[in-house]
Amino acid sequence: MSTPRQRRLCTWLATAAVTAVTLVGGTAYAQQQVLNLYSARHYQTDERLYDDFTKTTGIRINRVDADDAGILARLKAEGSASPADVILLVDAARLWRAEQDGLFQPVKSAALEQRVPAQFRGADAGQGSQWFGFSTRARVLVYDPSRLKPEQIDAYEKLADPALKGMICSRSGSHPYNLSLFGSVVEHLGADKAEAWLKGVTANLARDPKGGDTDQIRAVSAGECAVAIANTYYYARLMRSSSPADKAVVDKTRVVFPNQSTWGTHVNISGGAVARHAKNRDAAVKFLEYLASDQAQRYFADGNNEYPTVPGVVTENPALTAMGRFKAETVPVAKVGANTAQVQMMLDRVGYK
Ligand code: FE
Repeated sequence: MSTPRQRRLCTWLATAAVTAVTLVGGTAYAQQQVLNLYSARHYQTDERLYDDFTKTTGIRINRVDADDAGILARLKAEGSASPADVILLVDAARLWRAEQDGLFQPVKSAALEQRVPAQFRGADAGQGSQWFGFSTRARVLVYDPSRLKPEQIDAYEKLADPALKGMICSRSGSHPYNLSLFGSVVEHLGADKAEAWLKGVTANLARDPKGGDTDQIRAVSAGECAVAIANTYYYARLMRSSSPADKAVVDKTRVVFPNQSTWGTHVNISGGAVARHAKNRDAAVKFLEYLASDQAQRYFADGNNEYPTVPGVVTENPALTAMGRFKAETVPVAKVGANTAQVQMMLDRVGYK
């Protein structure tokens, strides 16, 4: 009679033996295809999504996590030896940059073209787009209702109003989220007016830019500033938080979706691409197509309190529902991305750090 412990050991040894045989023979592993994913989406909620993909396709995902800048640097350093097959980034400016740097390859996929609106894809010169947006986030204004009326900030242009002097909190102007927002303003106002506007916004900053979007929202609730620029999912995260401190922040602040009567609120994307030197190209395309499916769209967007890019996919996110429907801009994110190099020069000229 063996003890439970001995039995466990036997099972373990048997498993180890099978594994050893598999490693030597290689057949079982050869059958399991592996997709190397470099991801800047560090959201725990994406895990299930990857598991579902493996269950449906049999393709295992080997994930490397880093921030966008880290992923781009790594891809460049690895060059043609890069094991990356598919890449997920969280901003239009970065996707555009990576495309310019030759880190992606075009993908021709009827499914992706049909599902992901052209506004949220890289430009297509005939061979397909180099990247596809799978979720959107709106860049909104969070304000202190005891200091400002919503009509004082219902358009991005109004952030340059001298009446807002010393009232605005912002993360670095050079952060890709802001580069993209300002790139959108360039698209809508033209370069000259956009630069004059940036100068006005800089003059209205309550403090030197520092921290992330959530820090700006907290600063509004703490009275350090009256209005902050932030992505919707950061605010939604606070709304869904069970922490009393976060609840207090939400109680003291309100959200405005700017430019509802004009061009619409600026939206950015989180998107994916097939790596230039992908060894598993077909699996990479399959993965992108999977992200555009109804179920993945719902999960991919909702897990991080974002909006799906595929039209007609409905999520039931209480925070996003509470924030309400809004009119989003329709300018292609690829154009916004293309403006960001110019925006950086403007920021340097006006002193927006
Ligand atoms: Fe973010």
